[in-house]
Amino acid sequence: MFPSANPEMLILGRQSRGKSQVELANRIQRSAGLISKVENGIVPATLGLVEDIATDLRYPASFFFRPERVRGSDSVCFHHRKRQAMPSKLLATVEAQMHVTQLHIKSLLSELEVQSPNGFVTLDVDTYDGSPQRVAQILRSLWRLPAGPVPDMVRVIESAGGVVVFRHFGTPKLDGLSCWAKGCPPLFFVNAEIPADRARLTLAHELGHLVMHFTPPTANPETEANEFALEFLAPAADIVPDLRNLRFAQLPGLKAKWGLSMAALIMAAGKTGAVPPSKVKSFWVLLSRNGYRTVEPFPLPSEKPSMLQRAIALHYDEHDYSVEELAALVDLLPEEFVSLYESPEEERPLSVLS
Ligand SMILES: [Zn+2]
Repeated sequence: MFPSANPEMLILGRQSRGKSQVELANRIQRSAGLISKVENGIVPATLGLVEDIATDLRYPASFFFRPERVRGSDSVCFHHRKRQAMPSKLLATVEAQMHVTQLHIKSLLSELEVQSPNGFVTLDVDTYDGSPQRVAQILRSLWRLPAGPVPDMVRVIESAGGVVVFRHFGTPKLDGLSCWAKGCPPLFFVNAEIPADRARLTLAHELGHLVMHFTPPTANPETEANEFALEFLAPAADIVPDLRNLRFAQLPGLKAKWGLSMAALIMAAGKTGAVPPSKVKSFWVLLSRNGYRTVEPFPLPSEKPSMLQRAIALHYDEHDYSVEELAALVDLLPEEFVSLYESPEEERPLSVLS
């Protein structure tokens, strides 16, 4: 006898590779009905079936025996900038990849004492006059951020114990997702294909969701998260002096200083009232006329996460793990472990959409 495979892990493994039940069944020459029954826990998967699934989905068989409950009531997840045309199957794939990554994080960080000077909190926006800006100000002060720009948003999140992972989603339709499950650090899962300014805004937006919307939000969560993000990255009180008498030619310099896209700066100029509406309108026209609304020039340097990298280095250097042993620890095949965690982000392959 062997312990039963975890039906939730069977579903997660399949979805993380972008396969439907029928596709998987065809590939391993079983019936779709059988896949459905084992995924629903109606019949146990035989060891032979698990091995066939594991080979096809390129996971070690141990992946499917992990005991975790992946998605439950004690976990909250958000998506950012999901374009309307985003196919739901692709979204399910990226979401499953995020949950798989969460398991990697759990395994990699479980034995380590992660020292974070700050911590994540939940703040009910209603307690702060329904103002997401106020919540952003409170969080900035709790995390002891000095006035002015946030030089490195990834570092701010890591300093509070959050984990940031950049991954190629294989689609420009989704900027990022976040997830906060019990017993796990908050995870920010960001599309590696978006420019750095948009990644920063995505991180701040997701941070707003995790802080304000842990309990189901009442008003308009997307607007609230956007307002939070802008105030967190560029508090109105600090940025308004830079925006007064703004000229279009100043936008590249301000983009570098504040780490915000030119479009976001124009938006801030309008929202804060630093610039009259007619001038804001003319900026939008100039931005479009120059083609900057599709591809914005003056890219910012990308921000690099370091928490997982440090955890991996520690396993190698102090705990004497081999690549194979580390891959086994997170239930990946060694080649995928290397491609996900040891190559530069730009070269990380999207292994799910084959
Ligand atoms: Zn959102």
